[in-house]
Amino acid sequence: MNFVILGAPGSGKGTQASRFAEKRNLHHISTGDLLRDAVARKTPLGKQVADTLASGQLVPDSIVLELIREALSQPGNKTAYDGWILDGYPRTTSQAEALELVLGDIGENLDAVILLDIDPEIIVARLSNRRTCSKCKAVYNLLNKPPRKEGVCDQCGGALVQREDDTSGTIRKRLDVYRAQTLPIIDFYDDGSRLLKVDGSRPIDEVTEAIERLVSE
Ligand SMILES: [Zn+2]
Repeated sequence: MNFVILGAPGSGKGTQASRFAEKRNLHHISTGDLLRDAVARKTPLGKQVADTLASGQLVPDSIVLELIREALSQPGNKTAYDGWILDGYPRTTSQAEALELVLGDIGENLDAVILLDIDPEIIVARLSNRRTCSKCKAVYNLLNKPPRKEGVCDQCGGALVQREDDTSGTIRKRLDVYRAQTLPIIDFYDDGSRLLKVDGSRPIDEVTEAIERLVSE
């Protein structure tokens, strides 16, 4: 089966996608990883991505979509996995429409869309309590994964800092963008059977179980 997973920044989307992928032997296609990988492999598309990022601009939809098409069309991936899960794409309705065209083109079907539904205030609380090690980049959370010693990394002793985009003002702006751009996609996919809504505010393990239950129904 093939999936898309949707969720606001801080909803735990990446974690749930990789757990689900492992459990069901799915190819986990995260657009962030695809972009980093293309840059690292210095493919023609990767060079375009590197140039775009270096100029401080957003990577155009057409390039991201092309990378997704490549990943989905590789014969090796088709035999190694029992399906795929897309994480980080689509983020807008026009991207969702473009994805349908590409899938039709390469003979793939999107079977279900998993939506991690979560109260924005919970996300603000989660993300504004996130701390990152300035040396080894380990991630902590003052709410549920605090360091043993306040302000100090357990692993390397580095100083823990709050990333610029984890301050509550920035988080609220990112959530506003998510609401404006991504929420319309939910209508797009809500055609009676494909959309699976999961309460994303529960503990990580419970969310994982809820996804598994919904998909198995
Ligand atoms: Zn560290």
